[in-house]
Amino acid sequence: MAENLCLDCQKPLMGRFDKKFCNDVCRNNYNNQQNRDTNNLVRNVNGILRKNRRVLQKLVPEDKRKVKKLTLDVAGFNFEYFTNTYKTKTGQTYFFCYDYGYLPLDNDFFLLVHRNN
Ligand SMILES: [Zn+2]
Repeated sequence: MAENLCLDCQKPLMGRFDKKFCNDVCRNNYNNQQNRDTNNLVRNVNGILRKNRRVLQKLVPEDKRKVKKLTLDVAGFNFEYFTNTYKTKTGQTYFFCYDYGYLPLDNDFFLLVHRNN
């Protein structure tokens, strides 16, 4: 049977088998750290999404525009992050960052769109 260690300070735990922390201080430390990590992750992803939206916003002065992939790359667009997708009846999938989106076209072109409600 492996020794039970405190999840926060890694010291061996005494007493009850299902104990996870030495005491409330260790428990609070651990939970605060977990929350910080989660908050950082959320903040980073939000930042990327906001930047993606800014890039699209700058490139779409009207309601739609065709650009090369290079244009998006140079502007720092991150294709791994989007808020939602929209599939048309013809099977094309638009990727949206909030109200701005793009549709991948042939030959590394993209159709950028702005969704007005
Ligand atoms: Zn501890």
